[in-house]
Amino acid sequence: MPTPGVTGTPAGDRDGPSAAAGRDWRRAQAALDDDLRLHLAELVADAADDLAGDFYRVLLADPEAAPLLSHDLVRTRLRASLAGWLCRLFANAPLPDFDTMAAGQRHIGEVHARVRVPIHLVGRGARLIKAGLAGRLAASLDDRDRLVQALIHIETVMDIAIELMNTAFVSDLKRETRNEEAYRLFFLSQDLTLERESQRAALLEWNQTVLLALAGGAHVAGAATGTTLPAIGRSEFGLWFHHRGSIMFEGLPVLDQVARLMQAIDGRVLPDIDGARATGGDIAAGLGALQGAVGEIRFVLKQAFEGLIGIEAGRDALTRTLNRRFLPAILNREIALALRRKRPFALIMIDLDHFKAINDAHGHSAGDAALRRAAETILGTCRGSDIVFRYGGEEFLVVAVETDDAAAREMAERLRAAIAATDITLASGAHIVITASIGIAVFDGHPDYGRLIDAADRAMYDAKHGGRDRVVSAPTSLTCPEPAPATTGSAARSPGPVPAQGAT
Ligand code: GH3
Ligand code: MG
Ligand code: MG
Repeated sequence: MPTPGVTGTPAGDRDGPSAAAGRDWRRAQAALDDDLRLHLAELVADAADDLAGDFYRVLLADPEAAPLLSHDLVRTRLRASLAGWLCRLFANAPLPDFDTMAAGQRHIGEVHARVRVPIHLVGRGARLIKAGLAGRLAASLDDRDRLVQALIHIETVMDIAIELMNTAFVSDLKRETRNEEAYRLFFLSQDLTLERESQRAALLEWNQTVLLALAGGAHVAGAATGTTLPAIGRSEFGLWFHHRGSIMFEGLPVLDQVARLMQAIDGRVLPDIDGARATGGDIAAGLGALQGAVGEIRFVLKQAFEGLIGIEAGRDALTRTLNRRFLPAILNREIALALRRKRPFALIMIDLDHFKAINDAHGHSAGDAALRRAAETILGTCRGSDIVFRYGGEEFLVVAVETDDAAAREMAERLRAAIAATDITLASGAHIVITASIGIAVFDGHPDYGRLIDAADRAMYDAKHGGRDRVVSAPTSLTCPEPAPATTGSAARSPGPVPAQGAT
């Protein structure tokens, strides 16, 4: 039996994914004898339409895939084009040529990216087709060796096609995501304060139109389904929210919250009010629900706008430390630098102790003031090159650059002492002192920043369990990059506070 073509590509492929796929593809084609190729081609040609039908039946039943496909479209185009795709992949004559085949898969990948076909659905589809082909092959070939060879061929060819498709998919999606991000940033670069005010006014105006319609009993344009009252979903505010708001607040919980509130208003609250009015009933309860929902929309939007205005500046509005949103980008950059230049860096996780008790004893705004003071101390104690993030409510994360284990400990100890020495005077005149539990993790060469954050977090919890107001280092599991002798240490150990990046 000839060597099957699933030997994979040599490690350290230097000429790109397409070249590697090309080698595997040619090896797979060469391993197949003419008889078996013909058998496979005929079997695929025979089964292609049925397999494509099964494939789309499964996809249409999937809630994620169904909206992307309409039954008509599937019947008229996609099913035939999937069947054609399969036939071409396993054609007998002319023998499929790699470049043409690869260009076809790339094109499909680009279309998938544009349509946003979830990548796992493509994988699931391929699995279905492979299983369908395998079953038919098993029923058609008695010779075990030939059956194995044909199965391996199907597996290899399908995997290569999907691999090429997904490579194009990912690179296209990345480009689109960059464009979308640029679009979002364009929106964010507009005057957000102005946008917030005009949307607040638009919401109020819609609210007044409802009240006027109730007072006058008039029918209005754009009424909510089954009512004579104007729908919020079709108001100027609703349109803004669906079209601009959805871009500005992408990925934030506010989108869901406001959408749900608007649905409740149009679907339930307005019809209830209208129903009560029509039957001469009391509309007070309905009006209360309406004002409650509108108040809630105003509240979550106000908060979301404040968040955006903070993000826009890149800093947390309360503490002036960096927004956590930038953490992945900064850590990936530090990791790349550390790996390339063999310099260490450390994460210092700081959690203020018993902070809830401060809120409980002195009120939330005193808590805010204390948090601001603690952040000032942290920013003032770090060096200008360190990067301080607000990691959570009363948690800060310092990315200490060019810092080894010993220097990180020294720095963390300095931070701990400075926080404990900060005398915080509250508006009430009361003085309070805060302590912090601090965890350190030094970069150990592992490229996943999530692992490093977890290590710093665990060390911080060890500091909590050890009695708080202390520093604990995470155990180093892997070898640290060798520090370069010339500069490490001297910069990291420079004592004394230097204005940190957030001090401006
Ligand atoms: P521990 O020593 O275990 O860390 O106790 P803790 O009370 O600090 O920890 P816990 O996680 O139980 O509570 C954190 C508290 O921090 C609860 C929350 O009210 C408060 N907090 C978080 N963010 C803010 C904020 O922005 N302002 C104010 N005032 N308080 C905040
Ligand atoms: Mg905490
Ligand atoms: Mg805490």
